[in-house]
Amino acid sequence: MKVVRFQAEGEISFGILDEAENGDGIEIVELLADPIVAGFDTTGRRLRFEDVRLLAPVIPRSKVVCVGKNYADHVEEMKGVTGGGIPDEPLIFLKPNTSVIGPGDAIVRPAISDRVEHEGELALVIGAVAKDVPEEDALKYVFGFTCANDVTARDLQLKDGQWTRGKGFDTFCPLGPVIETDPDLADARVVTRVNGETRQEGRTSQLIFSLARIVAFASQAFTLLPGDVILTGTPAGVGLLEAGDTVEVEIEGIGILRNPVR
Ligand code: MG
Repeated sequence: MKVVRFQAEGEISFGILDEAENGDGIEIVELLADPIVAGFDTTGRRLRFEDVRLLAPVIPRSKVVCVGKNYADHVEEMKGVTGGGIPDEPLIFLKPNTSVIGPGDAIVRPAISDRVEHEGELALVIGAVAKDVPEEDALKYVFGFTCANDVTARDLQLKDGQWTRGKGFDTFCPLGPVIETDPDLADARVVTRVNGETRQEGRTSQLIFSLARIVAFASQAFTLLPGDVILTGTPAGVGLLEAGDTVEVEIEGIGILRNPVR
């Protein structure tokens, strides 16, 4: 199921994508409320996909947890930048929920950074309160999966020596376009393109720490709440975003997250 959050006629609603009843295109079946907390009861209303504006499919209630250095080829390319080799356990940090934007929203390069970079990533959305969950149960706490861009002011990340400011600016966490509740992530392609040119390409089978391990590990540190989001790391090929660029993160089975850069 593909879950969306959208705006139509000034109102914000949740929905699921469905084939149009007349067989022509995609429609949105409107839900009564946020399915992460309220389930999938519908209002009965159907809208044409073209008639709505998609928003970030979730606004994290409390936090966006991120995993750094989770693809070996990216660890290699960052050696001279953030240092170190493959970590022996997940390296986690947070982005504020104020950094979240939706599909089509502009990533705004802050005036105080000369080096804003893309990091295309698979994100998972927490569906139930999780604290100290064992790895074998961890995926039961996941509602679904979406595309994310862990936008980073690399110069500020390096200058500060820790990552909060460089990763936390407003607009630095595009999410969307949908939450897929049941994708096949055994070996899904994760691609980032800038102005149509492929910059990053990886597969979920290359993750150093598995999705279950990441959820279990993060839940040892933080109580994960429904609607919290976890970004799972980026493959090699991170690079500059300039004003006027369009950046896309595509994950097989989920969709394409597209954002302009200002
Ligand atoms: Mg990242």
